Amino acid sequence: MSARLQGQDRLRISEIFYSLQGESRTVGWPTVFIRLTGCPLRCTYCDTRYAFQGGEWMSFDEILGQIAVFHPHYITVTGGEPLAQKNCLLLLQHLCDAGYTVSLETSGVLDIAAVDPRVTIVMDLKTPSSGEKSKNRYLNIGELKQSDQIKFVLGGRADYDWARSKLDEYNLAQHCEVLFSPVQGELSATDLADWILADRLPVRMQIQLHKLLWGDEQGR
Ligand code: SF4
Repeated sequence: MSARLQGQDRLRISEIFYSLQGESRTVGWPTVFIRLTGCPLRCTYCDTRYAFQGGEWMSFDEILGQIAVFHPHYITVTGGEPLAQKNCLLLLQHLCDAGYTVSLETSGVLDIAAVDPRVTIVMDLKTPSSGEKSKNRYLNIGELKQSDQIKFVLGGRADYDWARSKLDEYNLAQHCEVLFSPVQGELSATDLADWILADRLPVRMQIQLHKLLWGDEQGR
């Protein structure tokens, strides 16, 4: 790995690690995570601030070589905000071409139209308590496939009510699966479960498995 790498096929990488998928439809599956450096947002609840800066430049060959060691089936490209680096789109294509089942975790503020259709997109809609609600790119909703997912990270009842209104306004459950997830330490998972059931919402609730297992430890 070298900052002197020449050519276009490279990305700034914060970490590559092997763990159980902690959320989304593939929760619980052994997965290799590629965390790209950088994010234009500053969500209040962000737990990956260490990925805002730093990292190392890696060529695509180096990235593919490092993940091959784990013989994975599932790969998740995450951040930071992975789409903030233009070459992310090319990496996603390479990963699909290599035969991996690939998902992309994105904040929902950048255009997703050019993401390879073989990739499952897990896209946030930023809630009021994130402090970044104004940056949501609602045009992205029209780009989502049935196999993609929209995720709301909820910090309290006000976020829940807002998410419920977006569910109606954009008919989100018709586009794809919708995930509701509580911010750990801010919103009780039990309360969220009770609200979803009381309102009979067509959403899937999730609790981050990796935090239950390993807390906030990085790279897990
Ligand atoms: S988009 Fe993700 S990585 Fe960026 S600040 Fe928000 S939670 Fe953190």
